[in-house]
Amino acid sequence: MNSWQIGDVRVTSVVEFDAPIPGEFVMPQADAAAVQHHPWLVPHFATEEGFIHLRIQLLVVESQGRRIAIDTCLGNDKPRTNEFFHELQTPFLADLEAAGFPRESIDTVVCTHLHVDHVGWNTMLVDGEWVPTFPNARYLIGRVESEHWDAYGIHEDGDVYGDSVRPIIEAGLADLVEFGHRITDEIVMEPTPGHSPGHQSVHITSGGAEALITGDVMHHPVQMSEPDWQSLFDSDVDHARATRRELLARYAGTDVLVIGTHFAGPGAGHVVAGGEAWRLQV
Ligand SMILES: [Zn+2]
Repeated sequence: MNSWQIGDVRVTSVVEFDAPIPGEFVMPQADAAAVQHHPWLVPHFATEEGFIHLRIQLLVVESQGRRIAIDTCLGNDKPRTNEFFHELQTPFLADLEAAGFPRESIDTVVCTHLHVDHVGWNTMLVDGEWVPTFPNARYLIGRVESEHWDAYGIHEDGDVYGDSVRPIIEAGLADLVEFGHRITDEIVMEPTPGHSPGHQSVHITSGGAEALITGDVMHHPVQMSEPDWQSLFDSDVDHARATRRELLARYAGTDVLVIGTHFAGPGAGHVVAGGEAWRLQV
């Protein structure tokens, strides 16, 4: 289990899924030969054979007495078009509790964006109804992001908004927040739109230390070496590329710890110059 200390803030990873997969499942340019072109990815982030390691995780951020859950993975029982995501039955909530975080103890839930693998455990199935998994939490959901997906209709992945976001709003637990929303003195949301219209990362500053939780600005560290490689799930490919390049340029060569929402292995590192672009130093 990965965890990091950033000043007084503790970040703990609870993993729902972690496996090597063909890169093309996420990034069309990332075939095995193209991934093998970046040997620095082996062994933490890719296999010798050119598969990519991909993780789906919830990050618990402890700040000033708060317990903030960042992104809620895929969830159980959800009807999904992707067979790997469909009606899962994982022990994730038991794993969360075993990590020290019973679901009732979470006081804030943050969704970087509203894709299928970031909102799943917002709700759980009880007596045929989708109910909030974290009954004592305020759920912070970007207003721009929420309005976009509410208007979008049923997503290709399944009724993600209908089973994982709307029930939270109807239960009165959602706060629709603006870009740059401050969560505590130490934690602020950092706008990084492109992957989705209202996408935000999470910036931590405490005791002179800094970290960034990326969300899906990048799905994989290979995009530091290949910042133009798109994700299959980017709403606006060109905007996502520009945001990714801006973010990498901003943090390269700094002490800011970059925690990748889908990064496997050590899960975090520092952005350094490498080749014609960047790489992640762990
Ligand atoms: Zn994702």
